[in-house]
Amino acid sequence: MDIKKILKDENFIFKKAFGQNFLTDDELLSSIVDLSGIDENTTVLEIGVGGGTLTRAISKKAKRVVGFEIDKNLKPVLSKSLKDCSNVEIVFEDVMKWDIERIEELLGGKYTLIANLPYYITTPIIMRFIEDAKMVESIVITIQKEVAERIVASEKTADYGSITVGINAVADSKIVKYLPRELFYPAPNVDSAVVKIDINKNKYNINDSKAFRKLVKNAFTMRRKTLVNNLMKGYGFSRAICEEYLTKLNIPITSRGEELSVKQFVDLSNLIS
Ligand code: SAM
Repeated sequence: MDIKKILKDENFIFKKAFGQNFLTDDELLSSIVDLSGIDENTTVLEIGVGGGTLTRAISKKAKRVVGFEIDKNLKPVLSKSLKDCSNVEIVFEDVMKWDIERIEELLGGKYTLIANLPYYITTPIIMRFIEDAKMVESIVITIQKEVAERIVASEKTADYGSITVGINAVADSKIVKYLPRELFYPAPNVDSAVVKIDINKNKYNINDSKAFRKLVKNAFTMRRKTLVNNLMKGYGFSRAICEEYLTKLNIPITSRGEELSVKQFVDLSNLIS
C-alpha cells in the first residue's frame, strides 16, 4: 500500500493544527506493533488514525481495532488504505469529546491503547487513560522525545516531574524506540520516541488517588521550592507538621519534590490523608 500516492490522489491537505505527521515505513510500523506485544486476542484502541498506516499494521496482528480520527477529510484516504482490513472500525470524532467510560463501552473489555499522538494533546490523553481508564492494560505511544524522557525520568533529574510520578505510581514505563523526525511524512520539527506504559495499579498501595494527585501537583508546581514550603502553602499546614511528616518517612526536611522517589510520594500521601 503506497500511502503517499493515496494521499496525493485524494488531494489530501495536511493540517498542522491536528499534528498530522504520518508514519509510512512498513518495517518501522511493524516494529512498533511488535514492541506493543499485542496478539490475535488483543483489542486495540488507536487514537489519531491519520492515513491508516499504523492501523493497518495493528490490524494484521490484533483481534479488533477501534480508531478515532478527528479529520473527516481522511475518510476517502482511509477507505482506500484500510479497504481490506475487516477488523477495523473508525470513529470520525474528536476523542477528547468522549468520556473514557463511553470509549470503554465501545471497546467492550480489556484493550491496549496504541497511538502516534499529536503534540498538543499528548499529556491530557496519557493522563486521562492513566487516571480514569478501567480496562486499559498497556499504552504504546509515539510522542515527542522530550515528553517521553520526562515520563521515564529518574528522581533528582530535571526531567523528573508530576507526569513521571503520576504515571509510574500506577504503571511501569520505558522508552522502546527512538524515531528521528525524518521518519515522519511530512517531517515535524521534533524527534519522537515510542514509550510503552504497562498498567500496574497494584504497584503501590495508594489510599486515596485524589489526595495523591493533589500532593504530586503541589510538589512540582513550584519545583525550586522545598517540599515543606510547598506543603505549607498548598495545605495550610504549619512548618512543624510538615517537618514531622517528612521526618517520619526519613525524608530530609530540606528536600524538594524532585528528590522524592515515586514510592516516597505514595508514602507521604498516605500519611497526609
Ligand atoms: N496514526 C497515524 C500515523 O502514525 O501515521 C497518524 C498520526 S498523526 C501524528 C496524529 C493524528 O491524530 C492525525 O491524523 C490527526 O488528525 C489526529 N488527531 C488529532 N487530534 C485528534 C483528536 N482530538 N481526536 C482524534 N484524532 C485526532
